[in-house]
Amino acid sequence: MPKGFLVGGLLLAAAAAWSAPLPRGVRELSPAARNLPILDPARALPGRFAPPPVRAGRRDAPLKSVSVGAVNRGKLVNAAELALTGPHWTAIRPEIARNFGTAEMVDGLVWAAERLRAADPQTPLLAVGDISAASGGRAPRHRSHQNGRDADVNFYWTDAAGAPVFSERMTSFDAKGRGAYNGKAVRFDVARNWKLVVAFLSNPYFGKDVRWIFVSRGLRSLLLKEAAVVGADAELIERASKVLAQPPGNSHRNHFHLRIGCSAEDAAKGCKNL
Ligand SMILES: [Zn+2]
Repeated sequence: MPKGFLVGGLLLAAAAAWSAPLPRGVRELSPAARNLPILDPARALPGRFAPPPVRAGRRDAPLKSVSVGAVNRGKLVNAAELALTGPHWTAIRPEIARNFGTAEMVDGLVWAAERLRAADPQTPLLAVGDISAASGGRAPRHRSHQNGRDADVNFYWTDAAGAPVFSERMTSFDAKGRGAYNGKAVRFDVARNWKLVVAFLSNPYFGKDVRWIFVSRGLRSLLLKEAAVVGADAELIERASKVLAQPPGNSHRNHFHLRIGCSAEDAAKGCKNL
């Protein structure tokens, strides 16, 4: 068989795979995102990627963001705005306008959402909950979220058969990763949620500054078991086991709460880690 014919056939087969119908709520990847390097959930660690550019989903204030004060007593100056929807993410409650964060937070969330979809186009959009208000300050229903360094993100879900499902709503999962939504059984997508944890910890924007990823004790165990199953680096597992935690007073059975520390620049301008 001529070589050109074989290559052509392979390209056709690849194109057919791309055009297979995607599950509901899963959008087609942009051509640019398809070419991103694949995230290796076992070995990704901060600093292993080239210095990153500003992400397309971020709308900038004229000056760089500053996170002032502490997460439970602070404000946000020159906030970066996360676009309410993008090719790989969507805001859960666009009407309340808490889609503002530090530049690092916004770029890093976009990067994580994009990276997971680049690794697997079946990955649903990342549903991003509250970050902070445009100028930060007290956020109803939260004790923190005051200065752009906290973000709630929905878990990735599957249906009972293991197919990815997208939801903008949150639902609770038990220690075995079982939940229900709209009368249907859904599952905590352990493999994909572990990849999301890795995308936070290896994040070129805020990876080294991740302080907490709040999640329930039971789901934390599932994630750390998954890390062992995929043969994650000991360094990565150790870091994940330190930052994944169930805080007192809020079980976090229905979402991750990511908290990043002050960047060095912000620390010099009055940003405080608790
Ligand atoms: Zn939160």
